[in-house]
Amino acid sequence: MARFTLPRDIYHGEGALEELKNLKGKKAIVVVGGGAMKRQGFLAKVEDYLKEAGMEVALFEGVEPDPSVETVMKGAKAMQEFEPDWIVAMGGGSPIDAAKAMWAFYEYPEITFEDLITPFSFPELRQKAKFAAIPSTSGTATEVTAFSVITDYAKGIKYPLADFNITPDVAIVDPALVAELPVKQVAYTGMDALTHAIEAYVSTLNCPYTDPLALKAIEMVFDYLPASYRCNMEARAKMHDAQCLAGMAFSNALLGIVHSMAHKTGAAFSTGHITHGLANAMYLPYVIKYNAKDPVAAKRYAEIARFVGLGGASEKALINSLCEKINEFNVILNIPATLKDFGIKEDEFKEKLSSIAELAVGDACTGSNPRSITPEQMEKLFTCTYYGTEVDF
Ligand code: FE
Repeated sequence: MARFTLPRDIYHGEGALEELKNLKGKKAIVVVGGGAMKRQGFLAKVEDYLKEAGMEVALFEGVEPDPSVETVMKGAKAMQEFEPDWIVAMGGGSPIDAAKAMWAFYEYPEITFEDLITPFSFPELRQKAKFAAIPSTSGTATEVTAFSVITDYAKGIKYPLADFNITPDVAIVDPALVAELPVKQVAYTGMDALTHAIEAYVSTLNCPYTDPLALKAIEMVFDYLPASYRCNMEARAKMHDAQCLAGMAFSNALLGIVHSMAHKTGAAFSTGHITHGLANAMYLPYVIKYNAKDPVAAKRYAEIARFVGLGGASEKALINSLCEKINEFNVILNIPATLKDFGIKEDEFKEKLSSIAELAVGDACTGSNPRSITPEQMEKLFTCTYYGTEVDF
């Protein structure tokens, strides 16, 4: 038995935001981030539409990137006082992730993060409120996923929350919100979406319900990401849909070790943060080569290559074409091919290699990777991504 869960309604395309007018309820709290949505006028629109729906509206503003436990608790308290029956979260991944956690603490004030971190152990939500999510970036797809990441800065821990209870009820995927996205973010979040779809397609939990979503998402990223990066607005809109399809696939099929590696190297080096999508884009071709030693995974990667029309007479040739295509995209999008090119110092890399490798093997995403991996193999794989050497083990 497997479960496949998506939001009840996904409104997509131009004008989707206006659907907020048709939500049924009495009180809505809008959760947003640092101000981009306000500056671009979308926050005011959301408030107006919700008022048109006959609701009283409250605001919770200022959710920071990588939202903290403190912000979540503050938001939950605001919700307990205001008692909304709709939580409307808008912005990049962070405000939506934060609002998902606030939702749990609003409905169950007595629970703790420790209660929530066991995957798929949430108490039953929707006793007090429903949840609408409106993304303003094209990558994380948190508007349709069962995931949220909250950081405890005091303890230096990230809590990855996973439960279908926090899959939103309504997702509004309106391309107007990503029209102003900076091109670097277009590149990184677009490659994050591609990684979601490829990892979901080869995941040990892939199934006929997730496969078509993943394949279509991959095809659309290959067709539209470069033009979206060049600010073609039609392509930008297609990418907004593509990342959402990828999200529907990976929320149900989960991910793999590209994400394990990106999670554990994001903040590992003194030379600076490695943005999530950029890290994924760098690691993806190496991981494909590693996973393709598993015959089942090899077949699945070849299916992807065939589906998007890449050439190759054998499975191996098809997989090579897929990796070449990803490398080509990284060149177009100004994404380095190796950790060394990114600027990670060799001494520091060598010094931290074994601990990073061990942490990556222990990451929640490793469990659904199609080929198992030991800490020693992970060290070798990271070494390939540092120097750009061939993965031949
Ligand atoms: Fe991701």
